[in-house]
Amino acid sequence: MNLNTHFTQLENFGHSLRAPAYRIRIRTTEDIYEALQLAKKLDLKVTARGTGISYNDASLNSGGIVLDMTGMNEILEWDPASGVVRCESGVTLKQLWQKVVPEGWWPPVVSGTMKTTLGGCLSTNIHGKNNFKVGPIGEHVVEFVAMTPTGALVTCSPNQNADLFYAMISGLGMLGVFTSVTLKMKRVHSGLIVVEARPVPNLNQHLTDLCEDAPNHDYIVGWLDTFARGNTLGRGQIHAARNLKAGEDSNAQETLQLKYQHLPDRLFGVMPKSLLHYFMNPFVNNLGWRAVNVAKYLSALRKHTFKQSHAEFHFLLDYVPNWERSFGKGGLIQYQSFLPKETAETAWREILRLSHRRNLPAYLGVTKRHRPDKFLLTHGLDGFSLAMDFKVTDRNREALSRMLQEFDQIILEAGGRFYFAKNSETSAESARRFLGDETIHRFKKLKQRCDPENLLESDLYRRLFK
Ligand SMILES: Cc1cc2nc3c(=O)[nH]c(=O)nc-3n(C[C@H](O)[C@H](O)[C@H](O)COP(=O)(O)OP(=O)(O)OC[C@H]3O[C@@H](n4cnc5c(N)ncnc54)[C@H](O)[C@@H]3O)c2cc1C
Repeated sequence: MNLNTHFTQLENFGHSLRAPAYRIRIRTTEDIYEALQLAKKLDLKVTARGTGISYNDASLNSGGIVLDMTGMNEILEWDPASGVVRCESGVTLKQLWQKVVPEGWWPPVVSGTMKTTLGGCLSTNIHGKNNFKVGPIGEHVVEFVAMTPTGALVTCSPNQNADLFYAMISGLGMLGVFTSVTLKMKRVHSGLIVVEARPVPNLNQHLTDLCEDAPNHDYIVGWLDTFARGNTLGRGQIHAARNLKAGEDSNAQETLQLKYQHLPDRLFGVMPKSLLHYFMNPFVNNLGWRAVNVAKYLSALRKHTFKQSHAEFHFLLDYVPNWERSFGKGGLIQYQSFLPKETAETAWREILRLSHRRNLPAYLGVTKRHRPDKFLLTHGLDGFSLAMDFKVTDRNREALSRMLQEFDQIILEAGGRFYFAKNSETSAESARRFLGDETIHRFKKLKQRCDPENLLESDLYRRLFK
């Protein structure tokens, strides 16, 4: 193989990071084996990559080999009686829900975009708007098969190779490459979901409602006005949603069909949404987004209940294709912090105020309710998360990076954690502080066992674990 013909520039989701690499398209397990052998021969490091839409450097590998897993994308077995599905690891959430929803099932955990692959979802152990109730995706994995850099195929489940099961899920692709994943879907009795929307006037009420409403719903998510100050700091809107019970939707056979789950590709039936990001671009600045946040809050003042399809509720961020392009050539980054429920309010007050003082406001804020889990590199805890999107420009890049490192200190002091699919600024020291020495030691010991020649490395791994 002539590697030079595979040389390309890869980016993160927000187009704020770029890394040159040799991209090899993978279609079979043998392809993975051959790519690993080649990397060994050429002394290059290897990173698996799904759709490549982590917000940070998780699937970038400067100067190394990147295994593009998106071609390994067959749904291998689907049993509509039990809801168990076995897929190759490059299958996307879109392929998955479209396969199972007509027969009354839905993936148990989904990200805010349906473009992610199962390999990417397991490696970062994604959480959904139902994390407080059902945990991360790893809790719904029946079994997976992965190839370690030695070429061995390992089958893991909570009862077989359990140490690898709990470490490879969340393990950022650093212990092996997932080849197939068996998952249990969740039964649904309608293609619709009931959503209650209500405004929250400040941060205290925002977090109180997230906490108190969650047990009565299947999903909960908040939008937070990142520009609001003073008494209104942390105001926003909460969407709490529940699945319909059997018999509640008299039209269930129809609403479960794919045509009901469709995100329209034209706005007002006229403008192709694929062009919308060009029109958004001039408004993506502090003034424009302050106005968007105020307008959104004012439009959210009425408490109301409505029904939405599963796809509309879960994949709002896919509604405008390529919306991240509207952030301009510097791109965007996301900073997501996880805090215990006891300390969240004080710490988030501090970081929101700091972003205002520095005139580096986030443009979008999203809150969720979480619970702890057993996976090795977990970001889960009994508390909340706040995800904040920042525009990156040549002028603000350094100041933004400094501010986010200050955020890290505030979050760590408050007993918080970070999610490795999102933040780009977390340092090795910060990772050590929230994961703890023992966890890092266990992770490195497993890495030594699965990958004795240290073949699997990504830009993120080198930033956090070397
Ligand atoms: C708009 C948007 C919304 C999002 N919403 C959420 C959300 O609600 N909840 C949430 O938890 N996350 C969310 N994310 C983050 C996203 O779910 C993760 O970053 C996910 O890992 C991306 O999947 P991917 O296929 O693009 O993986 P990539 O970005 O390609 O890779 C992610 C990691 O997985 C590893 N990897 C990929 N494939 C394999 C494989 N076959 N074997 C081993 N390792 C592999 C890579 O090496 C890397 O470490 C969101 C991202 C975007 C862009």
